[in-house]
Amino acid sequence: MYLELFGAAGEVTGSCHILHVGGRRILLDCGMIQGGRKAEARNRDPFPFEAAKIDAVVLSHAHIDHSGRLPLLVKRGYTGPIYAHPATRDFGWIMLKDSASLGERDAENENRKRARKGLKPVEPLYKEADAEQTCMQMQAVPYGRPQQVAPGVEITFRDAGHILGSCLVEVALEENGVKRKLVFTGDLGQYGTPILNDPESIAEADLVMMESTYGDRQHRDRAQTIAELAEIIAEADHHRGNVLIPAFAVGRSQELLYQFGKHYDEWQLGRWRIFLDSPMAIEATDVYRRYPQLYDEEATRLHNQSQEARLLPNLAMSRSADESRRINKMKSGAIVIAGSGMCTGGRILHHFKHNLWRPESQVIIVGYQARGSLGRRLVDGHDYVRIHHETIKVRAKIHTVGGLSAHGDQDDMIRWYEGFENRPPVCLVHGEPDAAEAFSERLNRADAAWVQLSRPGLRIDLANLESAP
Ligand SMILES: [Zn+2]
Ligand SMILES: [Zn+2]
Repeated sequence: MYLELFGAAGEVTGSCHILHVGGRRILLDCGMIQGGRKAEARNRDPFPFEAAKIDAVVLSHAHIDHSGRLPLLVKRGYTGPIYAHPATRDFGWIMLKDSASLGERDAENENRKRARKGLKPVEPLYKEADAEQTCMQMQAVPYGRPQQVAPGVEITFRDAGHILGSCLVEVALEENGVKRKLVFTGDLGQYGTPILNDPESIAEADLVMMESTYGDRQHRDRAQTIAELAEIIAEADHHRGNVLIPAFAVGRSQELLYQFGKHYDEWQLGRWRIFLDSPMAIEATDVYRRYPQLYDEEATRLHNQSQEARLLPNLAMSRSADESRRINKMKSGAIVIAGSGMCTGGRILHHFKHNLWRPESQVIIVGYQARGSLGRRLVDGHDYVRIHHETIKVRAKIHTVGGLSAHGDQDDMIRWYEGFENRPPVCLVHGEPDAAEAFSERLNRADAAWVQLSRPGLRIDLANLESAP
């Protein structure tokens, strides 16, 4: 029995690993590679395994960097079950279909250009029908209920506190009488994240495969983050500009609305119009509403006290493109939450076109920005950016608010790791090399048996875990 690492090795996106047990192959996640054209072109590469020969898929959570290539896997011949939390399955219907239609639209645009050049048309990565088929193959598994996924392989989902339905995956393995327990974090949330419970701690494991996105960083603490948001909104009010917030449809968007509702009076939000300008985020918000049993105490209390509509009376949900375009006419007084989260596409680009060059505008970056993405260029302070083939001067004020991240920081990650009484060995995935390196030092100080940084194709023999591979 061994673990083989493919995706999110030395980078953050494209989570994909494979477990070999008793001749069976179990895929853990099958995520999209994100962050600019060059990186994204790799999504078309053949899988380093045969899709039809996978026996089961286990999906940690709905984010596209973990789920986005599942429809491709299905298109290429995978017909088996995809085990996921019920909320992940609900999000899947929204996100995978959206991902498919984005891909189809891009291919259409591309093909118009290619036709003029006399080139052959390109196929989209996958189509909506593939995404639908993928969701049909999803089998819902709630937290805490053991589920056999193959002979000798049993999974149990635990709350990862990252987005609604996000899972830490405990995998109990048995081959020829040898038993092992692997824990895969998927993405690990921050302690104290609003709405969600804290990441569940697990007492024992033989190997932990752990994400390391913010392994080299400490987020600002939440109280400070909230104070910072209040300041930015006050500043925007003073300069009479708009506030643009690129956010992932699932997770950050709901947390922002939650914070706005909670601090409505204090931040004088009644003076603003708030737009959730993303059909996908609107649908995802509905999924959040469907699972109040997954909320933490504070969210449960707020949920019981009042309806969101009363918490945020000036919230507009912009479903249609026309509604979205109408926002562009507003020169001030609008707070716009729109995707995509890394500004690589979506409605946020139109809002940027209308606002980035105006010094009174404020941009709040609340999530991780991969290398090569437009969001990363803004964070890095570039003076000019290209949007839809146009050069745009960046005069807006760019704020990076780290405390709202859906990922735990170094302290959160160590705190979670220290829940293991036996200090198991760790394989670090889902992080850029600097972050993984820094976190590996921290783990060594916490007495981890050994720490291995992942690289594509790395194999870890699960029967012999005495030393690093
Ligand atoms: Zn995630
Ligand atoms: Zn991720």
